[in-house]
Amino acid sequence: MDQPHALLVASPGLGHLIPMLELGNRLSSVLNVKVTVFAVTTGSSSPTESEAMHAAAARGTCEITELPPVDIDHLVEPDATVVTKIFAKMRAMKPAFQDAVKSMNRKPTVLVVDFFGTGLMSAADEAGLTAKYLYVPSHAWFLAVIVTLPVWDKVVEGEYVDIKEPLKIPGCRPVGPDDLLDTILDRSNHQYRECVRCGEEVPTSDGVLVNTWEELQGNTLAALREGGESSRVMKVPVYAIGPNIRSKGPMEKPNSMIFEWLDKQDARSVVYVCLGSGGALSFEQTVELAWGLELSGQRFLWVLRRPTSYLVASSSDEDQVSESLPEGFLDRTSGVGLVVTQWAPQVEILSHGSIGGFLSHCGWSSVLESLTNGVPIVAWPLYAEQWMNATLLTEELGVAVRTSELPGKGVIGREEVASLVRKIVAEEDEEGRKVRAKAEEVKVSSERAWTQGGSSRSSLFEWAKRCGLVA
Ligand code: UDP
Repeated sequence: MDQPHALLVASPGLGHLIPMLELGNRLSSVLNVKVTVFAVTTGSSSPTESEAMHAAAARGTCEITELPPVDIDHLVEPDATVVTKIFAKMRAMKPAFQDAVKSMNRKPTVLVVDFFGTGLMSAADEAGLTAKYLYVPSHAWFLAVIVTLPVWDKVVEGEYVDIKEPLKIPGCRPVGPDDLLDTILDRSNHQYRECVRCGEEVPTSDGVLVNTWEELQGNTLAALREGGESSRVMKVPVYAIGPNIRSKGPMEKPNSMIFEWLDKQDARSVVYVCLGSGGALSFEQTVELAWGLELSGQRFLWVLRRPTSYLVASSSDEDQVSESLPEGFLDRTSGVGLVVTQWAPQVEILSHGSIGGFLSHCGWSSVLESLTNGVPIVAWPLYAEQWMNATLLTEELGVAVRTSELPGKGVIGREEVASLVRKIVAEEDEEGRKVRAKAEEVKVSSERAWTQGGSSRSSLFEWAKRCGLVA
């Protein structure tokens, strides 16, 4: 009998490509199925996207095909947001997707798309795929919001940020105005319509795989599944198969300067500061963050990006970065801190024994990379679903501390930065100690989820049986 074959489709952007490649790796290594990944790239041949694909291909667990570029200029308004463009592009990929499936020698039976690719699910039947699933590389509360959005769209009047009461999802934590995804803040923007459409398309799948695990979000997962046919939040099965994070490997370019420095530091003494693949701060916020790190007296490794409001367009990225720091900062903190401007090998950094805390924008991959190493977080959410991630981490899971107001809406002052960093790295008070202990517990439960009989492993097998990938 032919080896069962799953087809995964990754949407454009590193933040979508990497989780899908990691899922492919997991399916291949745990279930021993053949995996093909169709990658829809940004079109600008971003070197990091090709790098991620090369690294994944080198592991030999998935075959990766880049689908040919498609022009969507006539399909979207000139001022369309990135989110609108990605949804449009994924829908426009249908003919290329069908051609690519037709040309495969061994036909896949199962399709997995991410939530930008829900528009492709209607092509699955015509392409001869017998099952179609959605992979949400984020958490269960986020999934609950996406599938409830079409309901809110009908019953809520005006903008969501203006409502007096938090938005309700049966059995789940309510969603306050400060938790909302940035893509749904302006209901007149086309990207909002796309998000509602995505929520409507989720139940047309045969089920959803989500990057969390039962021990982390048992209550929310139960709420998604509970109730009768009409009242249940999720109309299709949900499989918690996380954490799936990027494994250490060729994608991580060894950066000896960073690791030589980390090797010299005491255990759990360094706060790692990185605001994701795109996160940049304003000039004022960069200055306050720098002062805060210095005032904290803690060791730090800071992945610093060019500030958003920097005006001297002619100087190089690197110059702009160092010019955005307070005068004398690098000299005064030399030995105590290390500032890097290039792409950092984050997975390896977070697993280094000297890391004691992570000041993070709370992208879900970063969160998982931190928690699977038992590293507590200073939550500094910036965009997308990061505000709700920060609420989840602080109020529900207890693995993070957060700023008193939302970064981006106001400037977080140096004293507050220093105090938050000291809390988690120096463990000066009870809150800091509790947060670290919780992060340690999550690390243990994340490992258990993938052991023999663990919840995520069992869930993956249950899914694979249901869709015929294993007997
Ligand atoms: N990342 C990295 N080095 C960097 C910045 C980011 O390796 O200098 C990786 C990080 O490990 C994570 C991904 O980029 O896997 C960021 O994904 P996340 O979901 O945290 O946030 P996004 O950047 O997509 O908002």
